[in-house]
This record gives sequence, structure tokens and C-alpha cells, in this order.
Amino acid sequence: MTMTDTVPTARLRAVGATWRNFAACLTIGPEPFFPEKGESDLARAAERVCATCPVTAECLNFAFLVGADFGIFGGTTAEERRTLLRDQRAAA
Ligand code: SF4
Repeated sequence: MTMTDTVPTARLRAVGATWRNFAACLTIGPEPFFPEKGESDLARAAERVCATCPVTAECLNFAFLVGADFGIFGGTTAEERRTLLRDQRAAA
């Protein structure tokens, strides 16, 4: 199972997911990217992988496009993405 197995394939095709071929997490299992409540060590491990990833912006954009409301994408948690969206809307 890969990180994106949790998102329907048709939605992946719709957003053109070729950037995933360059993902730093490509050979890592999904567990760190979908930590359960209280698994902050796992979340921090995922964020460290994201910090080395060359497609962080594409991944974050993907999360917004598909409305990913859980998991770590583009080095952000779902809560951080909600904050980004809220700030963006407030600034508009
Ligand atoms: S930013 Fe993080 S979750 Fe996204 S592709 Fe890169 S390593 Fe994977």
C-alpha cells in the first residue's frame, strides 16, 4: 500500500499525479503519514521525510485539490492545512 492508496485512483488521474514519481516517501510505507491520534513521533518522522522531498509544493497542492482532511501531505498536518486555508481566505 502506498500513501495515495487512500485516495481514489480516478481522483489521482484527474489531478495528474506524475509528481509522485519523485516523492521522497515513494519507498516508505504510509504509516508515518497517517498517524493515529497521539502518535506524534510518527508524525514528526513523516515531516522529516517531507523536509527532504523535492515535490513538497505539488504534494500540498494535491492535498488541497482532493480535500485531504487527514494525513500528512507536503509536510503539513491536516490541522496546519486548515489553518493555511483559513489564513488564505482571510487575506483574500
Ligand atoms: S511532501 Fe511528504 S508526503 Fe508529500 S510526496 Fe513528499 S515526502 Fe511524500
